[in-house]
Amino acid sequence: MLVDISDVMSAENREVTKEVLFGHDSFKSRLGEFPITKKTPITLRIANRENKRLLISGEVAMTVRIPCNRCLEDVETDIRFTVDKELTAEGAEINDGETETADYLSGTWLDTDKLVYEEILVHWPVRVLCREDCKGICKVCGMNLNRGSCDCRKTEPDPRMAAIQDVFSKFKEV
Ligand SMILES: [Zn+2]
Ligand SMILES: [Zn+2]
Repeated sequence: MLVDISDVMSAENREVTKEVLFGHDSFKSRLGEFPITKKTPITLRIANRENKRLLISGEVAMTVRIPCNRCLEDVETDIRFTVDKELTAEGAEINDGETETADYLSGTWLDTDKLVYEEILVHWPVRVLCREDCKGICKVCGMNLNRGSCDCRKTEPDPRMAAIQDVFSKFKEV
């Protein structure tokens, strides 16, 4: 969603709130595509501080369907975080004292989807489990071991081994 914030940028100490909705029904990244099953309108507060700083803040809450790292069953995963951006009056993002281009802001147009997308990426869960003690899938026959045991192994899987076997452990590199 493109929001024109010229009114805030041009008026000293003006503050507005804009209600926006994340414009995508799924979240696509290099990890794959994940359906967003629930999203709440996001109230963004945009403030001009003495024509020196532009502040953008708000709360994001959504539910995304992500496969369990061990057994690949879909897990409705809540993703919640706070957006808290500080920009120069010209619209450059300030991070730890350094300024960098804010690609979600083009002139006076704020691309809220781009802003929220980048923040979801930052707050993406490192690991998703259907339950803490998920037993994963059998590496031999592919059976979901939460539903029973197969004939491939005679002993109960050791939960410490299950942790090592996280099928998507490569995702942790992100
Ligand atoms: Zn699982
Ligand atoms: Zn098996």
